[in-house]
Amino acid sequence: MTGQGAPPQEAGDLMEKVVNLCKRRGFIFPSAEIYGGFRSTYDYGPLGVNMLRNVKDAWWRSMVQRRDDVVGLDAAILSSPRIWEASGHLANFTDPLVDCRNCHERWRADKIGDSCPNCGSTDLTEPRAFNLMFKTFAGPVESDATVAYLRPETAQGMFVNFLNVLQTTRKRPPFGIAQVGKSFRNEITPQNFVFRTREFEQMELEYFVPPAEADTWFGYWLETRMAWYLDLGIPTDKLRLRHHDPDELSHYSTATADVEFLFPWGWDELEGIANRTDFDLLAHAALSGEKLEFFDQGSGERYVPYVIEPAAGATRTMMAFLLAAYDEDEVGGERRSVLRLDPRLAPYQAAVLPLSKNDTLVPLSREVLGMLQPLCTCDFDVTQSIGRRYRRQDEIGTPWCVTVDFESLEDRAVTVRDRDSTTQVRIPIGGLAAEMKARLGA
Ligand code: ATP
Repeated sequence: MTGQGAPPQEAGDLMEKVVNLCKRRGFIFPSAEIYGGFRSTYDYGPLGVNMLRNVKDAWWRSMVQRRDDVVGLDAAILSSPRIWEASGHLANFTDPLVDCRNCHERWRADKIGDSCPNCGSTDLTEPRAFNLMFKTFAGPVESDATVAYLRPETAQGMFVNFLNVLQTTRKRPPFGIAQVGKSFRNEITPQNFVFRTREFEQMELEYFVPPAEADTWFGYWLETRMAWYLDLGIPTDKLRLRHHDPDELSHYSTATADVEFLFPWGWDELEGIANRTDFDLLAHAALSGEKLEFFDQGSGERYVPYVIEPAAGATRTMMAFLLAAYDEDEVGGERRSVLRLDPRLAPYQAAVLPLSKNDTLVPLSREVLGMLQPLCTCDFDVTQSIGRRYRRQDEIGTPWCVTVDFESLEDRAVTVRDRDSTTQVRIPIGGLAAEMKARLGA
């Protein structure tokens, strides 16, 4: 654990409030709750699934869609164990495990100092290496020959498809392969809500470059990735880059820096950006016998590219966006909690609210909803007083509420209320789509 955080009381409160809000409003549920829970996994509810998808889409737009040097991939989660042999995961993907001899809890030695966080005892066993990969069997026979692993990172899918992508896309270094998907790690101590879970989602880019350009591209990706978080609303004083000391580097890396967020318990990692050198391509080439290199037909030059890897966690990043967005203020003398999420990340961009349940307002409200749905994700809520409905939308981060009232039947206009300022403006229904597009930057 690193750095100093916010004052403990306030920080603890924030964490509790956000976890509570996630459960209460349907962002994130503890998994298998009706069976007493499953501690290390979570289910994303109706709002969470929207927001997580928005986080991944924002990443994909910036890393793939808006570039001509990066292509996407969706590789299998279950694949040949030889991948993990070559990558070094079978031998090296371990955490140091210690047992407390007093209360028998197990811990990750590098995260707890010299005493047990449960009972305070310093009577701990010597650390031993614990492999984090989930083991299973492929097919009906359970034997050494059928052992398979759930992938602990998405990155290897890009390395083993390096030639396929080169041949089918005619890309040349510098170019990248991007992937978003689930990864699995048998973490010794899953903790801090969805910060560390055994099943999670990653967003990774492997960017292949001529070796001489590796340092320059490493710097480029540090800047580009920091800018992504800031653009989506992480405040500058809650985001930093931390360069790894040489003795902290992974076995494959010559330089690594972490993008860190100021979590309630202190600074911690959102994303690792590493110069992985030619380690992975060489390792897979050696074990598979395939030449994993780039041949430049123009110059006749042949080389194994270096790889710069920005590797982020989608679920962990979503949690950071929620923590950064949570706020409380007062509106009309009443306290409210509000998620000041960037509209691109909010579960709903708009909520259409007929002022009254009265049947006469519903058809026009549905017409308005129908105009907005092709542009963004909308909620439609007819229950309770309008004030309470505004609070509900504020609390889940909906940036704009569109209210249809009795006057709307006469003037074909609606009231659009802004989440952050709570100001309201009247907008003709005919101009609503254009207004929404402008607000969404679409
Ligand atoms: P840590 O040191 O926190 O265990 P790491 O350095 O091993 O993480 P990487 O292998 O660099 O993590 O993975 C890239 C990203 O994937 C991390 O920055 C994080 O956002 C995410 N990630 C890794 N492990 C987990 C996990 N158990 N739960 C949720 N997200 C994770």
